[in-house]
Amino acid sequence: QKVWVVAKKFEVRGVKMTFSEVPQDYLNSLRIDKSDIVIKGKLGNGHFGEVNEAFMAAKDKSVAVKQIRIDRNENLERSIHDFQKEFLIMSELHHENIVKAIGFMSDDDEGMSNLKIVVEFQKLGSLEKYLKSRKSEIALDMKYKWLKEVAQGMAYLSSEGIVHRDLAARNVLLNENFTAKITDFGLARCTEDGCYQMVNNEIPMFYYSPEVLLNRKYSTEGDVWSYGVFSWEIMIDCQKAPKTHIVEMDSRFRSHITRENVGEYLLNNPGTFYLTEIYKFEDRFKNLLDKCFKVEEKQRASFDAIVKHLQNNF
Ligand code: ADP
Ligand code: MG
Repeated sequence: QKVWVVAKKFEVRGVKMTFSEVPQDYLNSLRIDKSDIVIKGKLGNGHFGEVNEAFMAAKDKSVAVKQIRIDRNENLERSIHDFQKEFLIMSELHHENIVKAIGFMSDDDEGMSNLKIVVEFQKLGSLEKYLKSRKSEIALDMKYKWLKEVAQGMAYLSSEGIVHRDLAARNVLLNENFTAKITDFGLARCTEDGCYQMVNNEIPMFYYSPEVLLNRKYSTEGDVWSYGVFSWEIMIDCQKAPKTHIVEMDSRFRSHITRENVGEYLLNNPGTFYLTEIYKFEDRFKNLLDKCFKVEEKQRASFDAIVKHLQNNF
């Protein structure tokens, strides 16, 4: 039985998942001794975490170590619980296009003190950084390959009943073979009624669909919308943020961006035109976007259908 089945049960009751609910032998199999890890240097800073590169002697390989950024945490205990869940979800995902968790470190048995998540190191870093730093153009075929890989990873996630809620180029990494891997399960949840609460105010608003913004209705269909925004980011080499165009077109957004007014905007302006430079793309790519940006969530393509579309047309 998957550990997150336990998580799901506790979430539905409104109780936060913690390590104390997880079988000890499962945790012990994932516990890593601090002395086995030598930190080498910072890889990145996200919204919630700090990630360092490290060397793991027992496995004789590089790893990445993620910890909570204490400085931006008003509610540390809650964040620790979320971080535990991030790890538990990651520890049970096994797919070529999802970053693999190796284990965790903590100063206590409950995983409350100084919790760190150890995952496989992805040598080429995030797609966002990679695309932004390239001087020469990346072949279209390579970009389409990444889109396919991420769609495959997302199809697996949805089949496991997990909603990612933060799919973006900054959260997809590349290994040394240019294989794309989804990471950052910090906002991920199990798909079940009652799991819809967003714990943090810092939500990636311009990646969200109308029903997510307006009704806080998180589902795989919401992830599909985010996948549309993600694939647009890839095509424009992450040279613009998804909010750029909206803010330029509508001065309201300069001073007052809320999930309600972005959600209303998307409802009233259906389609993809809130993203820039769409006209540059090939028709087969525009068709892909159209499948993601349906206002009615039931009309959006499933990730399986997206994978098929990519396999058949790209
Ligand atoms: P946050 O929840 O803070 O956004 P992420 O898990 O997204 O944290 O990691 C932040 C950044 O750290 C990523 O965008 C990436 O640049 C880098 N990073 C994270 N994990 C790895 C990894 N396994 N290998 C290489 N770089 C990584
Ligand atoms: Mg991130």
